[in-house]
Amino acid sequence: MNKDETDNENNEKPDLLDVYFFNNLFSNRFFKPAVNLVFFAVLIIILYYGLASKPDLRFHGGIPFATTMIWDLWHPILAFTIIFFGRLWCFACPIGAVGDWTQSVFSLKKKYPEKYRNLWIAVILFLLIFAAERHFFMFTRNPPNTALLLIFFTGLAVVMGAIFEKRSFCRYICPIGLVLGVFSMLSIIELRCKSKKTCSEHNIKECVIGTEAGKGCPVGEFPQTMERNNYCIMCMECVKSCSKDNIRISPRLPGADIIRSRKTHMDEAYLVHGIIIIFLFVMGMERFEFRNIIINFVRSTAPFDYIANYTFFVNYYRNMWAIIIFTSITLGAAGLMYLSTKVFSGGNTKQKFIDLSYAFIPLALSVYLAENTFRFLKGILLIISTIGKMFGKVWEFAINFQTINHIQILLLLAGFIFTVWTGYLISKRLSQTEKELRQSMFAIGVTAVVYLLIGVKILTIPII
Ligand code: SF4
Ligand code: SF4
Ligand code: SF4
Repeated sequence: MNKDETDNENNEKPDLLDVYFFNNLFSNRFFKPAVNLVFFAVLIIILYYGLASKPDLRFHGGIPFATTMIWDLWHPILAFTIIFFGRLWCFACPIGAVGDWTQSVFSLKKKYPEKYRNLWIAVILFLLIFAAERHFFMFTRNPPNTALLLIFFTGLAVVMGAIFEKRSFCRYICPIGLVLGVFSMLSIIELRCKSKKTCSEHNIKECVIGTEAGKGCPVGEFPQTMERNNYCIMCMECVKSCSKDNIRISPRLPGADIIRSRKTHMDEAYLVHGIIIIFLFVMGMERFEFRNIIINFVRSTAPFDYIANYTFFVNYYRNMWAIIIFTSITLGAAGLMYLSTKVFSGGNTKQKFIDLSYAFIPLALSVYLAENTFRFLKGILLIISTIGKMFGKVWEFAINFQTINHIQILLLLAGFIFTVWTGYLISKRLSQTEKELRQSMFAIGVTAVVYLLIGVKILTIPII
């Protein structure tokens, strides 16, 4: 397809911004700050109740408002809707907005250091938060810790806003933005330019430098060359600044970015394997038998455990060791794919490992959703029963663990099938010969089957 044909095709794509009032709404300079302010007020209420609560909801009672809002509502709803809305949450996010507000008051506007322009810090933060959740912070049942986590990231957004230009926190550090970015490659919407030709012919790149109407892109994206959703925080500044009305938000097939994009990175490839294995293990920890195996393993392998045994910090010591083990398994998972690529596939192993790892994004999302299924249903049922109460009705629901377990297994199977299919399409694009295609498919297939077997084994252990 030549450049003009691609251009015509882009021009013909349906544009959600044409729908009724959307364009006016997103172009209005008061709309985004108003949405941000509402969510900022909610954030403050969550922080207040979080800090006011006693620490562990299981033993001390306490106010579950912060944990319910974050872990039963916001996080699972975000996970289950990302396929529809991509990173649209970033439009409303109060933490990103606080960074912005800081910049409008004071900022040194330094350039973010070149050597840290990658996602490794965000990857490590994300995996650490979930690896440490069970063993250390217990965010999901500890309201003050949940509040402190939010304060930590809000503070970081403020500090980074005061030091660096643009939205460096959102682009390089925020772990939620990172995960939303990777999964938004699967999403059924994309924000792109309507016509690349119009961009090339436009000699003032308003979307980059900004205008009176809208800022230059705060994460350094350029709509003309954007080929995947990952970094666009959907702030709609380019919708406002582009005087050529050349930005569209269009529906598309899920996973389009994974299959089409040629920009691949080691940090994202590693994250995908990390998410699969960490969340499978987190689901395992909900099962008594699995938990016992892990606890015994941690005790028997912790170095100098016999010394720690006689000290008051024995639990902290073992938990730290458990976190090291949990984060190490992410290395093992990525290592499995690397080995599989090396054994079955020729060529540049490192680059192939990176390229083929993107096929595992559907499986990573399915495991992520499976882990959030219980809380998602709990949150939805809470909303329904609250609405019932508002109308004087009593709508009580009980969650059946067996049903949740079946949903989790179905999600895992769907993720596996989608990953093999995506793997086939990526391998086809990358391979010059049938042999190369077969080799790549072997590498993907072996790793995907190992993940599937681990997942099914864990999910079929009874929950006690
Ligand atoms: S990247 Fe993170 S902080 Fe920034 S807007 Fe998105 S969720 Fe909020
Ligand atoms: S301002 Fe509009 S037309 Fe110009 S380069 Fe940016 S998106 Fe393209
Ligand atoms: S300015 Fe446009 S391309 Fe840049 S982050 Fe905002 S919506 Fe995305």
